[in-house]
Amino acid sequence: MYVDVHTHLTHPKFAPDLHQVIQRAVDAGLKAIVVNGLEPESNRQILELAKQFPEIKPALGIYPSQGIAHLCDNDKLNLKVFDVKAEIAFIKEQAKNGRIIAVGECGLDGYWHGVETFAEQERVFLALMEIAYDHDLPIIIHSRKLEKRCIELLDVHGQKRVDFHCYCGKTKFAVAAAQKHDNWKFSIPANIKRSESFQSMTKKLPITSLLTETDAPYLSPVPGTRNEPANVVDTVKEMAQIRGISEAEMAQTIWKNYSDLFGTFTSK
Ligand SMILES: [Zn+2]
Repeated sequence: MYVDVHTHLTHPKFAPDLHQVIQRAVDAGLKAIVVNGLEPESNRQILELAKQFPEIKPALGIYPSQGIAHLCDNDKLNLKVFDVKAEIAFIKEQAKNGRIIAVGECGLDGYWHGVETFAEQERVFLALMEIAYDHDLPIIIHSRKLEKRCIELLDVHGQKRVDFHCYCGKTKFAVAAAQKHDNWKFSIPANIKRSESFQSMTKKLPITSLLTETDAPYLSPVPGTRNEPANVVDTVKEMAQIRGISEAEMAQTIWKNYSDLFGTFTSK
């Protein structure tokens, strides 16, 4: 039983062969693929996808950059301006009707964006946190270059169910956060082989707080290639070696951690 808690199967790179990609993941033993939304278009596509495949678990969110698209003129990010308030209302409605397994992707980004955008980023993030809190849903966090601030806000807001996706902050902050909160987890990406920091997190975090993700099509284990959910199998292999346990035990532990955080979910 394997799981990918953070992937973007709505990305155009998957358009030509999406069904095969999902089939490969299922054949590899994945029982859950949490597809994360970024803006209105992907959020709606994910709800449709979840109706077609029982393994696809829908998480809806607003990517930090997308939430402040109206403040940016950054061509690199390919942002579209949309009605953020209406989208928050849409996500809230889906949460209320039990149509989503989690809120995400959301959070803060201090890599692409300057301090002048932080207040607006936090406003969107807080609105999404509120949805997760009110409906007792997990929340999946993007925290690039603002890891400490994300931890602080989630803590103050009393979020009990959290997954930090591709956490790149100091390992000691992650360990402290995981020790303080039973159900705050950290998902380790498929590029772990090339990342000392993810290897160190795998070694030092409580084993109960480890999860697997791909962020596919990004963060491939092989640079320059398209990542896909089936790659979590190799991540588990790598993590088992680091923790000095069998692959089966590592996979079982991660599945339990997934169940503890996300619970059970069937698409409606
Ligand atoms: Zn992502």
